[in-house]
Amino acid sequence: METDTVKKDKNTKLFLHLKKWLEKAVLDYSMIGEGDKLLIGVSGGADSFALLDLLDSPMIFVPKFSFIAVNIDMGFDPDYVAYRELEKYFQEHQYPYVMEKTDIGVIAHSDINRKNPCFLCSRLRRKRIFEIAAESGCSKIAFAHHRDDIIETLLINMFYGREISTMMPDQSIFGGKLHIIRPLAYLTEDLVKKYSRERQFPTVKNECPTSENSKRKYMKTLLNELERDNPDIRHNIYTAMSHVKPDYLPFRSGKKLC
Ligand code: SF4
Repeated sequence: METDTVKKDKNTKLFLHLKKWLEKAVLDYSMIGEGDKLLIGVSGGADSFALLDLLDSPMIFVPKFSFIAVNIDMGFDPDYVAYRELEKYFQEHQYPYVMEKTDIGVIAHSDINRKNPCFLCSRLRRKRIFEIAAESGCSKIAFAHHRDDIIETLLINMFYGREISTMMPDQSIFGGKLHIIRPLAYLTEDLVKKYSRERQFPTVKNECPTSENSKRKYMKTLLNELERDNPDIRHNIYTAMSHVKPDYLPFRSGKKLC
């Protein structure tokens, strides 16, 4: 679906590196099967552009699949500047797409919502994405969450949710009828953002008033601070998820902390 001009510029060292690791993650977790139709969530941020662009590349090992790009506008910009920019991008690249203007972001920040805005916002947006997947015959939903998102979510769930869990690279939902997949799971945010700059995607600023003081933002800042003393901290947390020692965790067999 790429134009030849764009394809020519695409084969950089960085592109080949990212695609290698994307394909590895897809294969390791059997994220994509032959003939699958993917719904790719595109918010208009750098990560989602990178995901769309990388998935729209000739694959070496990943089976053949098709996709649609889906954007849910959260209603923060009454002039829809970013919406129009994104639509132009989809059209120029001849991507099949679904775009929806909603007021989900506004509702999440209104007086009727007593929970934190992100909770309702994510819930409503995800519900609509599931519906679009069903309407479009997609069995897989690809989100642009990368390695840093997975690390931050682990800490958010521990700090605020009192549990040890995070986003899965391949998450089965509705009894396996739908899968949420995260093909960027092995890639660091730094590299994804670097690729976005290299490709000069028309990224749009997140106009959400909560985006600058969300729990995720806090966790990112905290990790950046800790990284000054321990440059390996992100890598160590990520790797720790594959070295879980249940025998050295105190609350086994359903025992709960009083
Ligand atoms: S930061 Fe804003 S857009 Fe993102 S989930 Fe929270 S409320 Fe929604």
